[in-house]
Amino acid sequence: MKTGDYQHLLLAVDFEKESDSVVTRAERLSRLLGARLTLLHVIEHVPASMEYLTLGYPGEMALPDNSDLERELMEVAQRQMEALGDQLDVPAVDQLIKVGSPASVIDKVAAELGSDLVVIGSHGRHGLLGLFGSTARSVLRHSNCDVLCVKLDEHPAAPSSDQEGE
Ligand code: AMP
Repeated sequence: MKTGDYQHLLLAVDFEKESDSVVTRAERLSRLLGARLTLLHVIEHVPASMEYLTLGYPGEMALPDNSDLERELMEVAQRQMEALGDQLDVPAVDQLIKVGSPASVIDKVAAELGSDLVVIGSHGRHGLLGLFGSTARSVLRHSNCDVLCVKLDEHPAAPSSDQEGE
């Protein structure tokens, strides 16, 4: 590894199919540089109830008990993270799952680990909290280290009829 090369990459992974190229980029880059690769997935904190005033819904909508929901989300994320870790040959110590707001958790973990490059996709899942802003935009703005923002197609082509049902 040459002086000035990145030594510790932090890959922010949302487990979306569209983000495969982000994962591939990070994995290849880390191999090329001989750099450590840490995987981070953030489970967005789900409030027990949400006011949908901004969406034109005049009242409160009850969601399932949020601790059950978070536990379920955690179990699913653990399975996905383990599979990705196996696929990329990343040890368990470098497979992180946290709860919170993705952008701020990504910044915090990058600082704690001393990562010198965060790898993210230009856009991804727009879940409940995704409505309030873009993770990529926020990380690019606030991160203390370099950020590789992998450009993803905003409108991936629909599968052609002969690909369907394969
Ligand atoms: P977004 O700006 O939310 O559409 O997502 C852009 C990129 O941020 C994704 O391609 C991921 O790299 C990262 N990202 C988004 N959500 C999460 C999450 N919950 N955990 C980890 N990374 C995320």
